[in-house]
Amino acid sequence: MNRLETYEQVVGHQEITRLRYLAQGLRGARVVHVNSTRTGGGVAEILSWMVPLMRELGIDAHWEVITGPPDFYRVTKAIHNNLQGLPVPLKDEDLQLHRDVNRDNAEKLALEADIVIVHDPQPIFLPEFTPKNRVKRWVWRCHVDASRPTRRVWKHLESAINRYDAAIFHMAAFTRPLPCPMFLIPPSIDPLSDKNCPLPEDERIETLRRLNVDPDRPLLLQVSRFDRFKDPIGVIQAYRLVKPYYPDLQLCLAGGPADDDPEGPEVLREVMEHAGSDRDLIVLMLPPNSHREINALQRSATIVLQKSLREGFGLTVTEALWKGKPVIGGACGGITLQVHDYHTGFLVYSPEGAAYRIRYLLRYAEKRQRMGRTGHEFVREHFLLTRHLRDYMIMLMCVTQKDKARIPTPFAA
Ligand code: UDP
Repeated sequence: MNRLETYEQVVGHQEITRLRYLAQGLRGARVVHVNSTRTGGGVAEILSWMVPLMRELGIDAHWEVITGPPDFYRVTKAIHNNLQGLPVPLKDEDLQLHRDVNRDNAEKLALEADIVIVHDPQPIFLPEFTPKNRVKRWVWRCHVDASRPTRRVWKHLESAINRYDAAIFHMAAFTRPLPCPMFLIPPSIDPLSDKNCPLPEDERIETLRRLNVDPDRPLLLQVSRFDRFKDPIGVIQAYRLVKPYYPDLQLCLAGGPADDDPEGPEVLREVMEHAGSDRDLIVLMLPPNSHREINALQRSATIVLQKSLREGFGLTVTEALWKGKPVIGGACGGITLQVHDYHTGFLVYSPEGAAYRIRYLLRYAEKRQRMGRTGHEFVREHFLLTRHLRDYMIMLMCVTQKDKARIPTPFAA
């Protein structure tokens, strides 16, 4: 059985038929995705299933990764922070380095394609340095909340974005006035991946024990890169406010490295300092590809937190909802698409607010279960990979439309 047939058991026959039908119009089209890391973070997570599935549908899909010296990642992380509204100083030389690395990569990467989809700001200048005959159409896929960028960084990026044929954002609130067509496509998870598939009970328990988490006591969990926008310190503050009322309570902060995020070790140090010697506060630095470990933690959590201060989408929220967990999430970005008060969890604005909602959910087990069931179905309907792929194929058809009539006649399947 191929992968698409396996997904049929989760999303139904009709959805897969629709995908196969849409793919007819894109058969053989060469599509190249470019991002800045193969492991760590949501973009890598998505591309690792999307590229093989596109290929299975007959699209000639490839995945290229931009690379540069360590300073490049420092600069692009600062650009990312500025794009999400945090003013981190950047020198002219820094912005020049961003462009120079893009120029070098434009020569090195295999970009020949009908469409190149560039993810996030790191490779955003590739169109400027790629000869026109190598790529027919460029699409910029923005995964972050770019609604309130700092002026200087937006000016720097705008000059690059103006060369694109289309841009994709997660939600309307993230869009900015741009001269190209814009598409709204929220991300999704793969329900059959190691991160999200059902786990045998003995594996779940064994994994928890190995990670020093007690499987028999209530567990709060936040899975995130160690990044200040994810507010790990705020999560610790919330846990400390609740702990006196629930002495059994454990908090696990699980994160891992991302090649393109150099701030991780520094934030991890801050988190360890705040964690102190509390044996019920478990900070885990997991190696890349710890998907089954994260799966086990999410399935074991009593409540999942994602107390971000800015968030593109928050795949960790989707993963938790899919596993039937209520989520307490920071009221920002894509978390607001997924967490709905009293239905799938609670949106919060402060550590105190998070603590208040944690106490409520710890107290009412049946409400946790009801929210968990609602969350699971909500993800099935809106945030599984098949919906995501369908949106991408429609976008690809619209963008290639100018080249040739690739769109199949409606109802001809
Ligand atoms: N993730 C992981 N290991 C970690 C931390 C995160 O595999 O130690 C995964 C997490 O399960 C999710 C993705 O990385 O699939 C994070 O995506 P999200 O959209 O939540 O945040 P981003 O890191 O892209 O800002």
